Amino acid sequence: MRKPPSAHRLGRIDAGAENGSRSKSIGPSERKRPVMTMSRSPVTDGGLTLRFWGVRGSTPVCGPEYVEFGGNTPCLEVRCGERLFVVDAGSGLYNCGQHNRQDLPKEVDLLFSHLHLDHTGGLPFFKPAVFDAERTINTWCGNLDGQSAEDALGRLFSPPLFPVTLDILPCTLKHHGFRAGETLTFADGATVDTILLNHPQGSVGYRFEHGGKRLCIISDIEHTDPWPDAALMRFVEGADLMVYDGMFTDGEYPTCRGWGHSTWQKGVELAQAAGVKALAIIHLHPCHSDTTLLSVEADMQAVMPTAYIARERQRVEVGATPAIRREPLIRIA
Ligand SMILES: [Zn+2]
Ligand SMILES: [Zn+2]
Repeated sequence: MRKPPSAHRLGRIDAGAENGSRSKSIGPSERKRPVMTMSRSPVTDGGLTLRFWGVRGSTPVCGPEYVEFGGNTPCLEVRCGERLFVVDAGSGLYNCGQHNRQDLPKEVDLLFSHLHLDHTGGLPFFKPAVFDAERTINTWCGNLDGQSAEDALGRLFSPPLFPVTLDILPCTLKHHGFRAGETLTFADGATVDTILLNHPQGSVGYRFEHGGKRLCIISDIEHTDPWPDAALMRFVEGADLMVYDGMFTDGEYPTCRGWGHSTWQKGVELAQAAGVKALAIIHLHPCHSDTTLLSVEADMQAVMPTAYIARERQRVEVGATPAIRREPLIRIA
């Protein structure tokens, strides 16, 4: 019998959120029955959570060998309580929009790591947000020395490369430029720290803090020599979860030097040197099948048991103990 594969074997999964509903507050009558308490986190507002909508690097892939980890390019949903941030607009942004279609805020903050195609190509497909005249999408770009993404996105999304220019979309797009290294402060007072990463044309790493938890998203990056980089180590120090660009293995890296990406081994080195509690690898190589990645993950967990390879649609409560994968992969023939 064919059994659907799980994309959620690691991390703590919120089945309610998977179905599009948000956790509701518990009423007084329910509080009298402690065995029914549904709290999953000591932080009452839902805490700091992350959902991966795309974890593949460079180009989307599709096929039976990509069922476990998924094929969409980077898009991450970060929630500080209910407060939404979207990091990157890869092809995974489409599913992010569909999943959150009932409760997207009127203003959506979209933080770009950088503007390479695998991190921007999903923007016009961010439905229903882009079709809503009442909605504002703020883009944040920090790798162009203060310049916003407006000109670059305007070139990308225009004929003959793409039939629709962004100014045709009903939503309001506001493009903000900053310099990586600055702390972003948003209209509601939320703050996010940033750091410049080593990548062609630069890239921006982000640090989110909420409810006493710390999440760092470090992609795209190529490690440097010496490693770990001292400034980056300070930036991610003590993080409850670090998301890291592990596109290659150490064995593959020599032929891919200078391409702007790193290895899971360098991610583990950085995590262990900086006291990072858990590590999630993203920007997966398009050639790496489920079978390859499961083998890579086993190698990685032998060195760092709280490290794992991110699965598309996986939701993680930052700071919760990640479950270690035990089930064998069920393959679809
Ligand atoms: Zn990329
Ligand atoms: Zn890139």
